[in-house]
Amino acid sequence: MERDTVVRNEYAELRRRRLVIPALSLVLLVGPSGAGKSTFARTHFRPTEILSSDAFRAMIADDEADQSATREAFQILHQVAEARLRRGRLTVIDATNTTREARLPLLELARHYHVPCIAIIFDYPLDVYLEHDRQRPGRQVGRAVIERQLAQLTANRSALMEEPYQRRYWIRSPQEASHALLVRRPLSCDRRWWHGPFDIVGDVHGCFDELVELLKRLGYRLAERRSPRGEVEYAIAHPEGRRLLFIGDLVDRGPKIIPVLRLAMTACARGRAAVVLGNHDRKLLRYLTGHAVRLAHGFELTVEQLEGESEDFKARVRRFLQRLPHHLVLDEGRLVVAHAGLPQEYHGRDSPVVRRIALFGVTTGEVDEHGLPIRVNWALAYRGRAIVVYGHTPVSEAVWINRTINIDTGCVFGHRLTALRYPELELVWVPARHAYAVPSRRLLTPEDLTQPLLLPREAAEKVLAQEMPRNERLTSAVTSAPGGDGASVA
Ligand code: ATP
Ligand code: MG
Repeated sequence: MERDTVVRNEYAELRRRRLVIPALSLVLLVGPSGAGKSTFARTHFRPTEILSSDAFRAMIADDEADQSATREAFQILHQVAEARLRRGRLTVIDATNTTREARLPLLELARHYHVPCIAIIFDYPLDVYLEHDRQRPGRQVGRAVIERQLAQLTANRSALMEEPYQRRYWIRSPQEASHALLVRRPLSCDRRWWHGPFDIVGDVHGCFDELVELLKRLGYRLAERRSPRGEVEYAIAHPEGRRLLFIGDLVDRGPKIIPVLRLAMTACARGRAAVVLGNHDRKLLRYLTGHAVRLAHGFELTVEQLEGESEDFKARVRRFLQRLPHHLVLDEGRLVVAHAGLPQEYHGRDSPVVRRIALFGVTTGEVDEHGLPIRVNWALAYRGRAIVVYGHTPVSEAVWINRTINIDTGCVFGHRLTALRYPELELVWVPARHAYAVPSRRLLTPEDLTQPLLLPREAAEKVLAQEMPRNERLTSAVTSAPGGDGASVA
């Protein structure tokens, strides 16, 4: 090929507008009749992903232009959209969507099922729609209708900016529409194709010495060396290619927060580990991005230990934390890892609610006598197939509740650092060398974990007597490991 042609082709490629769409999302196509919405949808999406108002009208009235069927057509369209989102299927709404009334129920569906909503807006001069309408074989909508829809779109520009889309793509010309390159990106929590085996590590909180001992016990080789920048670096590898999963809260309270961060960052960069964000890690991220953060709950130690570090290191920590997922769905959906655990309806979903629950847990909305939010023992009601591994609330022993297990065994409070081997479902732990911090209340025992609130039994009973009738449904037995005996291997 001639060099000029190569350059021209590359240039054309570069000009292609990239539209990044989360692989699970609700996509609203917005634009007057004749915009090319159906043409665009056919080009980029599977027929079963596209819900077109015209097609539903045709299905119930044998005529896609029969306006008397519109109300029922949209009722059915909404029902199908709801069924798809409940199942976690990408859904494209091919309708004009030029009014707020048309869009709001769809946004509400996306919010209800914790799915990001994307708007693709075909915003052209009137003549373009009219010309497309004239050329369209078989069906002309006519100038009056198109003018009215364009007026709606024009009046709706600021509404579209305010409505809670994760992304908005404004397409300004039919050429741009024809050349668009659609990229489907898995949600950050979606790692179903990572099959393990994994070693899932509980809340580390700067307990580096215990972490190193635990990793050795798990069979990892650890090398300490100098990076080209002259910084200490910890490289880990497992002879059987196992990978580490940290359930979050790497920082705060403990003595060696920086080495823990270095080890986790290097391991993640080399594909040997993944980390889900914990509430303490999020606090550090907020600090590093310039937010005011209270120096309490062990965060003052993180700040102190970060003091001697270079700005470059802090920037790398910031970027590392920014990229951490709020939870992970692994091994074809059989394993879910989230810092504070996650009820089934949120697995593989992404919304502010999912992020809050994954990081802070299910809470009652009330606070205890220490001013801490009261957490609900969501695991008692868990009936999902996926195994959920989490931490956040320190426990004296990791025990299975249905198919969930809390492996935060309070190392920083002087108890143990625990790992769960997956798929073996064996627990491996090492004792803490010191109590580096004092917990605001005692670690929860297996007996406490049969209660509907994540509080020591006495405290839970007091709260329940005051505020909530006992919920019988929430009482269920603490069980052994699903398909294993769940015994601790010390
Ligand atoms: P409606 O809301 O009435 O269903 P629509 O937005 O789905 O309209 P289409 O049916 O996809 O519009 O397109 C209308 C006409 O415009 C068709 O004849 C189609 O071939 C043409 N068209 C669509 N997109 C483009 C484009 N990017 N460039 C040129 N012509 C286009
Ligand atoms: Mg159409």
